[in-house]
Amino acid sequence: MENFVYEYPTKVYFGKGAARQHLSNILSAYGSNVLLAYGGGSIKKNGVYDEIAGILKESGKTVTEFTGIMSNPTWEKVREGAKLARENKIDLVLAVGGGSVIDCCKIICAQAVTDEDLWEVEMVRHGIPTGKPIPLGAVVTASGTGAEMNGGAVITNEAVKIKGGMYAAAPRFAILDPDYTMTLPRMQVLSGAFDTLSHAMETYFGRSDRDNVSDEVALAVMRSTVVNMRTLLRDINDYTARSNLMWTSAMAENGILKVGRLTDFECHQIEHQLGAYTDCNHGQGLAVIHPAYYRHLYKSAVPKFAKFARTVWGISEVDDEKAAQAGIQTLAGFIQECSLPTKLLQLRSKTEITPELLRQVADSTNLLPNGYKLFTHDEIYEILMECI
Ligand code: NAP
Ligand code: FE
Repeated sequence: MENFVYEYPTKVYFGKGAARQHLSNILSAYGSNVLLAYGGGSIKKNGVYDEIAGILKESGKTVTEFTGIMSNPTWEKVREGAKLARENKIDLVLAVGGGSVIDCCKIICAQAVTDEDLWEVEMVRHGIPTGKPIPLGAVVTASGTGAEMNGGAVITNEAVKIKGGMYAAAPRFAILDPDYTMTLPRMQVLSGAFDTLSHAMETYFGRSDRDNVSDEVALAVMRSTVVNMRTLLRDINDYTARSNLMWTSAMAENGILKVGRLTDFECHQIEHQLGAYTDCNHGQGLAVIHPAYYRHLYKSAVPKFAKFARTVWGISEVDDEKAAQAGIQTLAGFIQECSLPTKLLQLRSKTEITPELLRQVADSTNLLPNGYKLFTHDEIYEILMECI
């Protein structure tokens, strides 16, 4: 095992009726000014807004609303929210939504307490924010990212075409009620769950030493994610599967899989830059890239890919190399089984996806040294061209 320091920063309230049962009690620990932040309005249609706003009112809070947080949140939106939080002397930011709302609010909490531009601090100077962020709570309405249990946020700066990981504050608490996710469109349920699978795979395919316990936990999270996704393919409203996936989503990104080892995360780096140029759906972008990326990676980690094939996909092939290839093929088949996109041109994109655009995506992708192979920008371009 590599050395590590591990702490859960977030208190989780999980299950049906969790907000009704716990939120007013939780709110009593914070000051009176609350920023209620959400996305494009799904919470107004499914009753979540009414329930949360009602609890805030009963708790005597003064509520400022911050709305319209988009998927793939932008740096401009962070600045807008930080200004609002500062002007209204906000004591608690309550993010109600999926990964996009939660990520945007993480940085709002840190940006609101400083005059420095945190994009400049973190992304240009590679520093860390020093101010004490406004406390953040998350009410999850779309699971998959696990954003509710970590301090990282992915923000798109449209001016420089970078979608980058930034660090701020992890939520102090998170409410995870699977019922709140029931109105999610089928494709978002599956692409969110694929994001969870991707997080566990990216962690597993980071470098680790022999018989590493975190590898075993990651494999279990992958198996459970696949089993529950298959249940949802038969019945998208299956509560048990939704609740399992809500917790595997948190497990995959709360750091427990990442202790004592490295995390590859190169597939996410490629997808983030693809997102910066196209604004594509995160889980769908990952679904397209993963099989091609793994076809380029597996020769550097054959035994690990063979174990992945046998443990997650039940491949019985005894030859490691053949098992590794069969595992990647089965992953690609599973993506098709879920009707997730398999080609870049199937993604919803704000700009035309051309070889020239993919060259820019490849050249701006961060190259991470944590996996079994250090890729070059040319190889990333090759991978993207195979996906087109
Ligand atoms: P999302 O972008 O937060 O939401 C996707 C869509 O789902 C939105 O259109 C939203 O509509 C809708 N929605 C949310 N809850 C709903 C509900 N209960 N019923 C109906 N519609 C609902 O999706 P996401 O996959 O959770 O987040 C993606 C972002 O998270 C990406 O930017 C990705 O890079 C980032 N991410 C972060 C981490 C991390 O650890 N920090 C990890 C992975 C990915 P409304 O806007 O109308 O609510
Ligand atoms: Fe992700």
